Amino acid sequence: MRVSELMRPETNGWNDELVRATFLAFEANSILNIRMGENNPRDVWCWDLTRDGNYSVKSAYGALSKGSGCQEEQSDYSREEWLWKRLWKVPVLPRIKVFFWQLCNDAIATRNNIARRIPGTMDGCPICGYDVESGIHIVRECSWVRSVWSGLGVDVLSGVGFDRIRDWIEALMRDKGMAEWVELMTGCWAIWEMRNKVVFDGVRWSVEDVFAPG
Ligand SMILES: [Zn+2]
Repeated sequence: MRVSELMRPETNGWNDELVRATFLAFEANSILNIRMGENNPRDVWCWDLTRDGNYSVKSAYGALSKGSGCQEEQSDYSREEWLWKRLWKVPVLPRIKVFFWQLCNDAIATRNNIARRIPGTMDGCPICGYDVESGIHIVRECSWVRSVWSGLGVDVLSGVGFDRIRDWIEALMRDKGMAEWVELMTGCWAIWEMRNKVVFDGVRWSVEDVFAPG
């Protein structure tokens, strides 16, 4: 994803809606606080966290993680690199790639993650109500979600012994081809979209609606 995709060319400003939809609230705020220059044709956009000056989501994520106190384990770097390179090549929308990367890093706005930042808020799964809503619960553990994967013919139970979401995805996907990656990433995205409809629009969870367009 390039920074220009997050901007409105007509106003030379951020596309607030897209930035907020793509990043977590604290990440979006950091990005939206970056001032735009005047509309000057000599301006060149340059991202100083990558060698070639082109914006990459990973460099932004790394910078934001440092600023927000999230700890990345250095020993995981080469594995992280493998996962990142792999998923970035999958032919899905950039927004889905960013979401999936955040999911792999347990950095999506699940109730569990929100409750860690705001003590006292509900952390239970809004779909089944039986467990804490973590990233891995949403896409693997939740009983209602299992039927989504069986409908897609994706075996999410391989590597089920891994509790950390990135470990599980690596175990599950290491030898898989592009079609399986597309299924996994779009499946996770569709489940999250449906979950958001349940939480924010009060609709009832339905497997059919997970696959419904729009
Ligand atoms: Zn659940």
